[in-house]
Parts: sequence; C-alpha cells; structure tokens
Amino acid sequence: MRTAIFPGSFDPFTIGHADIVRRGMQLFDCVVVAVGYNAQKAVRTDIEDRVAAIQRVFASEPRVKVVAYHDLTVDLAQREGASFLLRGVRSVKDFEYERDMAAVNAEIGKLEMVFLIADPRYAHISSSVVRELASYGRDITNYLP
Ligand code: ADP
Repeated sequence: MRTAIFPGSFDPFTIGHADIVRRGMQLFDCVVVAVGYNAQKAVRTDIEDRVAAIQRVFASEPRVKVVAYHDLTVDLAQREGASFLLRGVRSVKDFEYERDMAAVNAEIGKLEMVFLIADPRYAHISSSVVRELASYGRDITNYLP
C-alpha cells in the first residue's frame, strides 16, 4: 500500500491543490491531505473548518483521507504509515523552498518527496491571493473546488 502525505496550510484549499490530490491518486493508493499550521502564514480559518471543507470535496473518494496536525510532517507520516510526501511546484520560488524542505525531511525522516509541476491552468493560484480577494469582498468561488 503506497501512501503519500500532501501537507499544507490550505487556507483556503484551491482548485490548484485539488488538482495535485487528483494527480497524486494516480500514483498512490492513498493520499492523506494534512492540514497543518504554518507559523509564517496568516491564519484565516480554523484548522478544523479547513479539514471539513476538504473532506466535503473528496466525500466520494475513499482513497483520500483528510487530517489536521500540529507536529512535524515526518512524525505525521510515520503515524499514517506514509513513505512519500507529495508537493506541488508552481515556480522557482516554490522550488527553492521545497528543495530545502526536502533536504531537511531526508535528514530527519525516511521520506521520499514527490513533486508535481503545477498545471499551467492553476499555477498562478495561491491561497494568499484568494484570501486577499475574499478580504475585499470579491467572489472567489472560481478558485475553490
Ligand atoms: P504551505 O504552507 O505548506 O506552503 P500551501 O497550502 O500554500 O501550504 O500549499 C500546499 C502545497 O500545494 C505546496 O506544495 C504548494 O506548492 C502546492 N500548491 C499551492 N497552490 C498550488 C497550485 N495552484 N497548483 C499546484 N500546487 C499548488
């Protein structure tokens, strides 16, 4: 059984994130979407609300599990029996951040990182831009699954 963790803040979970989960399901038996706390990011919604929203997106998909976590991703992976970490890469900026995280995760855990290049249709979509639009009262439904 090949299980991958897809960790993120998902504040909110966008169509770009959903695309990574769907593509990840072609590679793995189970994808665990793990909603974590990122100290560098402003929090808009409660973690449990985010978990519930993502669960609704994949309600008919038994191979997708959604959890909240408050510790290191490597510790969560061990709990979930996952050997892979799934991430999306939109840009050089994402790449540089991911490369550092991959090196640390390889040092402290036995996780193989798997990167999917963002679909060009969604590569410009970020949770922070969606949050900003929402804060000015704009309709963000096109960005949400
Ligand atoms: P984090 O706080 O860990 O960066 P995010 O919720 O911003 O969490 O992103 C989670 C993962 O999803 C990251 O690997 C990020 O690069 C990826 N991602 C975010 N937006 C998109 C998108 N539009 N297309 C593909 N991957 C994306």
